[in-house]
Amino acid sequence: NAMIQFQNVSKCYPDNIVAVQDINLTIEQGEFVFLAGPSGAGKSTLLKMIAAIERPDTGTLQVNGQEIGQIKSAGIPFLRRNLGLILQQQSLLRDRTILENVMLPLFVTGTPKSEAESRALAALEKVGLPDRAFSLPPSLSEGEQQRVAVARAIVNRPQIILADEPTANLDRANASRVLEALTFFQSAGVTCIIATHDEQLFTKADRIVFLDRGRLRHTASSAKGKQA
Ligand code: ADP
Ligand code: ADP
Repeated sequence: NAMIQFQNVSKCYPDNIVAVQDINLTIEQGEFVFLAGPSGAGKSTLLKMIAAIERPDTGTLQVNGQEIGQIKSAGIPFLRRNLGLILQQQSLLRDRTILENVMLPLFVTGTPKSEAESRALAALEKVGLPDRAFSLPPSLSEGEQQRVAVARAIVNRPQIILADEPTANLDRANASRVLEALTFFQSAGVTCIIATHDEQLFTKADRIVFLDRGRLRHTASSAKGKQA
């Protein structure tokens, strides 16, 4: 079952900056996919198009049966409800507890407070941080804050998680903890798409899609990232 399908997708930014060109890529439900490649390769642009933050200029992109190029603005909240986003610029609210930060997406969808609290706590347990629920973000390490971001992304039970460089600035041990949190949700059926230039993460990948200057170069599918 294709969850995400790019067909001949190209996208330029103003001034004719080519971000991605002629992308053909199908991601199945429940897959764990790394988008790899150097800075500027187009990884973030692919993630942003899946979330309808950017739209393709040409080609078609289907996400969970919806055509991104044709989605009306009223349809975007429905699309996003099915997506857990871990974007680079999104940080935790410093003056809210960890629990309150994880509860935020549930308020947006109108979940009652007591249910939101118990679901946010359950999500914090899944990322190994239940004892930090009542701490404030600045008292957590960067690695712990990233795991909170994973909990916040998953709390609405999305079908897809998109993460943009989720291990940037983390040491090996913390990077693997963040990755373990993501693979846990994949094993529960969530489709995970992770943009990274950190090749040391690749061992657990279902699939690695290499991008370079906006083009898809090749796809590897063995556990160690050998070329398929
Ligand atoms: P990556 O995530 O692999 O670093 P991006 O998708 O961020 O790559 O960028 C792809 C190309 O598009 C780069 O040349 C980048 O400079 C350009 N780009 C990205 N975002 C914008 C933007 N908002 N406006 C103009 N150019 C952009
Ligand atoms: P709850 O049923 O209260 O949400 P669970 O223990 O089942 O608690 O799950 C804990 C957290 O993990 C929840 O926030 C949930 O969003 C997330 N989660 C667990 N399983 C899945 C799944 N299959 N798909 C998406 N999210 C999941």
